[in-house]
Amino acid sequence: MELTELIKQFVRKQTLVVSHYPRGHLTLAGALCGLVLVLLVLPLGGDDLEPNGRAEIVLDMDLSPKQEQPDALALSDFVMPLQATPQIEVQPVLEDVTLWRNIEVKSGDNLSSIFSKVGLSDQDLFRVLNSSDEAKVLNQVYPGYQLDFLIPVNVDGKGELEQLRLLKSPLEGFLFTLNNNNYDVESILNFPQLRPTFKVGTIADSLFMAGQREQIPAVTIMEMANIFGGVIDFILDPRAGDDFSILYDEKYLDGEFIGHGDILATQYTNQGKTFTAVRYINEEGEAGYYNAEGESMRKAFLRSPLDVFRISSNFNPSRRHPILNTIRAHKGTDYAAPRGTPIRATSDGQVTRASRNGSFGNLVIVKHAGGFETKYAHLSKYANGVKKGKRVRQGDIIGYVGTTGSATGPHLHYEFLMGGVHQNPRTIIDKLPKAESIDPAEMDSFRTQTADLLKRFSDMNSTTFITLNQPSAD
Ligand SMILES: [Zn+2]
Repeated sequence: MELTELIKQFVRKQTLVVSHYPRGHLTLAGALCGLVLVLLVLPLGGDDLEPNGRAEIVLDMDLSPKQEQPDALALSDFVMPLQATPQIEVQPVLEDVTLWRNIEVKSGDNLSSIFSKVGLSDQDLFRVLNSSDEAKVLNQVYPGYQLDFLIPVNVDGKGELEQLRLLKSPLEGFLFTLNNNNYDVESILNFPQLRPTFKVGTIADSLFMAGQREQIPAVTIMEMANIFGGVIDFILDPRAGDDFSILYDEKYLDGEFIGHGDILATQYTNQGKTFTAVRYINEEGEAGYYNAEGESMRKAFLRSPLDVFRISSNFNPSRRHPILNTIRAHKGTDYAAPRGTPIRATSDGQVTRASRNGSFGNLVIVKHAGGFETKYAHLSKYANGVKKGKRVRQGDIIGYVGTTGSATGPHLHYEFLMGGVHQNPRTIIDKLPKAESIDPAEMDSFRTQTADLLKRFSDMNSTTFITLNQPSAD
């Protein structure tokens, strides 16, 4: 299909999606949809991107509304295959923009007070609430949600609620439309414009500080640490001079930044060893991260039992070496960390103990498949619901760092046993069976989806690290 035809179809579809918005927004929305499309069909590659990774493109398009049937074409047709695109049909309603009242839900608000703010009565509220089962979504309105009211004034000077829009986020919500004394309910799904953004960083002190220096959102840094959580212990392994790069989406709606999207590809070089991960959505529609050979980044065990990013954004383990004692001294690894730092189960399993035990203090033991066992000692407290018999998943918080038992300062004492024998988790994990890989039958699909992305990501890395990125100490 010709590109121009694609754009036309795309705009038609998107115009219908947004058509319940006031007319004044239509042109803008359409123009932005066009922009989305162009950004998406453009290669991600370096040539089209400025050093900061953002493509700036101005479009001049004829966007006169075409009221045709929507077809199946959607945003997801232009990016990597995603989960099935929800089919939504919203009837075009072209009304005067001035009639909409927009209310942001604040803490302490309730529906009744919000309705009265726009001149509607409790009876009006009950009429909406009782119009259908779906209307019950209105009973769960939280601060930050937006409620938009369309109340045209009739010839008698009286206003009647014609449409009510509930937005949980700029992307998601519900539209209630008056229909013969009742309200029809439809879902609203807006598609954000995705702008791939490429960032690089070098570790001088901590990963978090490196991210801050490069203005990489903390949530994206944490996501990267999670992706590599099976191959790098982000408490013990990072060294000054390590570098990393992340290609991730930023989301825009109507030209406004609305949030950070997923990491598409990322790379971390730890003490000279480079790990690369690419996002892949498998045939079941589940997203995961894999290396270029299709091996999952998710390993049987997490390298670090601490979730350091959750408690202390600038905790810097390298300033004071976090290993207080060696494995030889007492069969465990000690992680110095601030009191209260969340401790996570390093693998799926079942809690076999969560109670006080002499010099271990508050102790959690988790039993895993294959004869493995992990122990977590000196906890200040257990996580909610953690007790003997509880099943946990890898990464679940099981307790918090403390000083119970014989501990001179707050730290986690972590033990790793295989068949009842203590092992050094930092060396034994490498000897465990390899992680899950993409099914050979699915490798074609994996390659199709990721080859281009990986190639461009690799190009971005080679140009950037040669020309831009000189490690700086501070
Ligand atoms: Zn210890």
